[in-house]
Amino acid sequence: MAKTKEKACKICKSIYEEGDKCPNCESKEFTENFKGKMEVINAEKSQIAKNLGINKNGLYAIKTR
Ligand SMILES: [Zn+2]
Repeated sequence: MAKTKEKACKICKSIYEEGDKCPNCESKEFTENFKGKMEVINAEKSQIAKNLGINKNGLYAIKTR
């Protein structure tokens, strides 16, 4: 099995491995140079998620560049 690289969407910071399109916002703007990972498990109640504009649970990059 081929190893896939983790990518972070530049728009919503969602982290994904497969495909070249963000499964969250369908943007094709991604980077492999992201810093930090954060799992959002309670997006509706999390203030951090709100600050980052995240409204869906999942794995997100803290910083993209
Ligand atoms: Zn996205």
